[in-house]
Amino acid sequence: MTARLRVDLEALAANIERVRDTVAPAELMLVVKDDAYGHGLAPVVRAASAAGVTWFGAFDARTGCAVRDVVGDDARIFAWIAASRDDLDAAIAARVDVGVGDAELLEELAEAARDSRALARVHLKIDTGLHRNGVRPEAWPGFVARAAAIEAAGVIEVVGVWSHIAEASDAEDDDARRIYEWALEQAAAAGLRPAMRHLAASAASFARPEFRYDMVRVGAFCYGIRSAGGPSARELGLRPIGTLEADVLRVDGAAVRIELGALDGLPSSLRLRATVGTPAGGRQLLSVGDSESLVAAWPDAAAGDVVTIYGPGAQGEGTATDLAELVGTIGEEIALRVSPLVQRSYTRR
Ligand SMILES: *Cc1c(COP(=O)(O)O)cnc(C)c1O
Repeated sequence: MTARLRVDLEALAANIERVRDTVAPAELMLVVKDDAYGHGLAPVVRAASAAGVTWFGAFDARTGCAVRDVVGDDARIFAWIAASRDDLDAAIAARVDVGVGDAELLEELAEAARDSRALARVHLKIDTGLHRNGVRPEAWPGFVARAAAIEAAGVIEVVGVWSHIAEASDAEDDDARRIYEWALEQAAAAGLRPAMRHLAASAASFARPEFRYDMVRVGAFCYGIRSAGGPSARELGLRPIGTLEADVLRVDGAAVRIELGALDGLPSSLRLRATVGTPAGGRQLLSVGDSESLVAAWPDAAAGDVVTIYGPGAQGEGTATDLAELVGTIGEEIALRVSPLVQRSYTRR
């Protein structure tokens, strides 16, 4: 297969700097779930660490441990999904902070910490309306009281209080923030002093300063993936870090054949909708097969010419979101589809 995903680590570092400038004095937690949004966990974590990132958001405990292996001792790592006692033991051993949004999990974590004679660092999660785990407001006062008691016993350290918001409408986010503020008051009343209050992801971290608190959890914007229907990458001051491209295999009359298809992650719904980058400018994507696709030819097209699906050199700004909007989805959906079998390469331009 000649298709490849080129990842520009220089652009990653520039985006990280842009995000940090925007959200300061709040800290940046770089979210690296889903193999760093398909760009490759280890190279992204290494480059981000070199760019000064000290907090990583890892989704599950296993990914958190993988990040620890890459960054070494210094970085702080946060994982918000722990499915089993093994996960909790592994997180404690690797000094991965655990997000806890459930009273039973809090007890399990405390037990794991007691057994391993190590402090477990936790971030307590309030459900502010998304209903994607998190402690419901009616159970929150009892939950924080219990966490304070376990902390006083020296078993856990409550590092953070956090939640996740939809970022779909300002009004809904405002409602969520009111619940979050109340949850912080309740935590304080229980005697907790969380150093890290975090609520916002990419969109709110830029658009809503009052949502930044001590830290923002940002994935998409650091990878140069803007929000669908939102400000352009240029307006945000961000660059796409991934370039998905493939060589022309051969010219078939009025079309050229490229070695990249639906099985490699090119959505077939883009057929007759997407314009892709070619040496002669934009050309229409004519069809998407399993492993090969057709693009409208240009004069003197030849085998070996490069066709760019997204990234600099593609149409528009080249973000995965430009393609996503053609088929009514979000940029992450396009970026995450790229098969792990598509070769990744890393450059610092
Ligand atoms: C994915 C995720 C983020 C990052 O969201 P982006 O919009 O990509 O910045 C933040 N927090 C949680 C809990 C997430 O799952």
